[in-house]
Amino acid sequence: MECSKVKKSSQNVRVAVNIRPLLTRELLLGCTDCITVVPGEPQVRIGSHAFTFDYVYGNMGSPSTTIYDDCVAPLVEALFHGFNATVLAYGQTGSGKTYMMGTSGEGSNSGVIPKVMESIFKKIDSMEEREEFLLEFHLLSSKKSEEAFLAKPVVPERVPLQIREKKNGGIKLDGVFEAKVTTKEGMKLQLLRGSLSRATGSTNMNSQSSRSHAIFTITVEQKKIAHIGAGGDISCVKLHLVDLAGTERSKRTCAEGMRLKEGIHINKSLLALGNVISALGDEKKLKDGGHVPYRDSKLTRLLQDSLGGNSKTVMIACVSPANTDAEETVNTLTYANRAR
Ligand code: ADP
Ligand code: MG
Repeated sequence: MECSKVKKSSQNVRVAVNIRPLLTRELLLGCTDCITVVPGEPQVRIGSHAFTFDYVYGNMGSPSTTIYDDCVAPLVEALFHGFNATVLAYGQTGSGKTYMMGTSGEGSNSGVIPKVMESIFKKIDSMEEREEFLLEFHLLSSKKSEEAFLAKPVVPERVPLQIREKKNGGIKLDGVFEAKVTTKEGMKLQLLRGSLSRATGSTNMNSQSSRSHAIFTITVEQKKIAHIGAGGDISCVKLHLVDLAGTERSKRTCAEGMRLKEGIHINKSLLALGNVISALGDEKKLKDGGHVPYRDSKLTRLLQDSLGGNSKTVMIACVSPANTDAEETVNTLTYANRAR
């Protein structure tokens, strides 16, 4: 299968599709590859459906560097020009979201998040006016899920996080664990704590099934040293790296009771996210003062100051190529296509 990509004009929302390879387990079960990537086009075909995106990554070769370079590096660069940004990994459980984000422990340093950290530190190191700047990194993760790491799993969406809007339109979180890190090692440690603390109640789909959204937030504060003490010139930008909850429908996972409720709830927040991104992608509507429904879920409120407006967003829809997953794959592609 081929990789194809075509750059679109500069817009703030981009959508990519990442097709993981068939897994050994799937090959042993006789699964076949049911997705075709149209050569030279960012288009995928599955059954009678065809979808076009900003980028499509097929399952040949090692796409992680390409994904990073195409989709994420421009966002990291934008941070240093004062833009907030968000990377969203969307897809059913087992579609390769965590693998791509690089927090699964596999291929350790090749995923999106380790590469982001690497390039942020590199960028700072290479800054000519480095002495004039002081940069700080924070990593946010839900305090409640920190506790969950020690005790029972908690779905962060259910946690009564206090979300407040600041006067300048930013969002402030109460009840959140915030770690200040100044080194790459420190950031890695926080990441690990964050990924370990995710709710991973077992379902039929995958024993590591992620029913929660994992949101890693990197805040970069730049202070012009000359102005420190004079109280001036602090710029603060945010990059959210979000490993969204699995999108599979409850029927497939035979979820029951609480699990089922969580599933429904999560799907609601993903629906709200889809509506927000779709509204943001409709530039004509936005110009006419169109409404962006940020308030419809905690997830979208949380990401509000880094979605839309002056910020850059990329959604990477992850899909399995297996024929047995075709239905979920079509759902994912339909969702992602709408976002675009
Ligand atoms: P998700 O986070 O969407 O539930 P995972 O990232 O856990 O999915 O991936 C599911 C399985 O697929 C894992 O066993 C992982 O090793 C494998 N996998 C995912 N993406 C790739 C890839 N690009 N190359 C090889 N294996 C992959
Ligand atoms: Mg995962």
